[in-house]
Amino acid sequence: MDLIERHRRVLPSWLSLYYDEPIELDRGEGCWVWDAHGERYLDCFGGILTTSVGHNVPEIVSAISDQAARVIHSSTLYLNRPMIELAERLAKASGIPDAKVFFTTSGTEANDAALLLATAALGSNQVFALRNSYHGRSFTEIAVTGNRTWSPTSYSPLSVSWLQGGSRLRGPLAGLSDAEYVARGVADLEDALLTTTAGRVAALIAEPIQGVGGFCLPPDGYFGELWRVTQREGILWISDEVQTGFGRTGEHFWGYEAHGITPDLITFAKGVGNGMSLAGVIGRAEVMDALGTNSISTFGGSPITAAAGVATFDYIIDHDLMANARARGAELREGLDAIARSTPAIGEVRGKGLMQGVELVWPGTVEPAPELATRALEAARREGVLIGKGGLHGNVLRIAPPMTISAEQIEHALEAFRRSFADQAFHVKEQ
Ligand code: PMP
Repeated sequence: MDLIERHRRVLPSWLSLYYDEPIELDRGEGCWVWDAHGERYLDCFGGILTTSVGHNVPEIVSAISDQAARVIHSSTLYLNRPMIELAERLAKASGIPDAKVFFTTSGTEANDAALLLATAALGSNQVFALRNSYHGRSFTEIAVTGNRTWSPTSYSPLSVSWLQGGSRLRGPLAGLSDAEYVARGVADLEDALLTTTAGRVAALIAEPIQGVGGFCLPPDGYFGELWRVTQREGILWISDEVQTGFGRTGEHFWGYEAHGITPDLITFAKGVGNGMSLAGVIGRAEVMDALGTNSISTFGGSPITAAAGVATFDYIIDHDLMANARARGAELREGLDAIARSTPAIGEVRGKGLMQGVELVWPGTVEPAPELATRALEAARREGVLIGKGGLHGNVLRIAPPMTISAEQIEHALEAFRRSFADQAFHVKEQ
């Protein structure tokens, strides 16, 4: 029996795989990966999921193997040097003056911790979240995830009110200027405060760029306007930086910085340990210390994942990968914009740095075209490039390579996209 059939038999049906013929990855090197048949692909998605600085990076591999050979034990019951060293780096980089850090093993759990801390600190289970968001798949995170594809149940420990968010290509946000977008969003928040909440609101949770939601982003400075209201009301701001952190946007270390705010809590995950199960929350000491009871974590910030985190953090800083994300991101964007100009099925290219989304529509309309997104994903794979998919309608391609990608590799990816989008399906007006 082949591996695909074995996967289908033993794993739940909702763990869906990419591609008609799913790929078994065998090894990776830098921005390249090879499948079990020896086929080589340029990895333009793993950067945001796991390998922020590339595959098989010697400094990180040796940090992991050295720690594995030394000791791996409870994360929190004994003094854990790698965890303390990583916490110090993250606290310093966070922009929060008296920051403390708690480590978890996934982004879901990081957001759970942030919301637990916020609700404990303020004594309220009322929170604000943005439409089209994704924050994870626990009961708590499903409740603040504004996309029904990812919300299989309505049970929640939180009481959630929805704020403006999502694509500006269609729906209520379509056609708004940046100034109108901001004014509408502030009015929406003020209205939510008056009409949909009772008593105290604990937190507002938001992604600076909605990741799973298809790289939708508000105008720079927008969150600053909302933040003024949340500050006035004593509502804590949680910035979910799981996809936008660590310099990926090319302009700032954290996505929130584009908005001139200082969040109370920041959550991080995915690439922080270059593929190890490492995540967590950074926050103001007063909020971080708010739990009145003990809490421990067996694996969160374990010596081995924290060692990977320290090595990854240092690699990002030492190689100035934020600058590379800015330069390579600009080249990628320029190339994608050029493809979009001659491809009627591309409704919008958006994002920042090495986080670029391509929204597919039926040519001549703004109607979402998930079938075309799937077609483009398959075509790029045939051309030897791995990309991701997302968006409320599953019609947005997500391009997010490791931050170490070179100019030649960006051109290689663009050449593959040019060939992929030459397909008539992306040019015919009538479907
Ligand atoms: N927040 C954001 C912004 C994410 O993109 C994700 C994962 N897609 C999560 C939280 C949840 O992270 P994890 O899958 O590690 O639980």
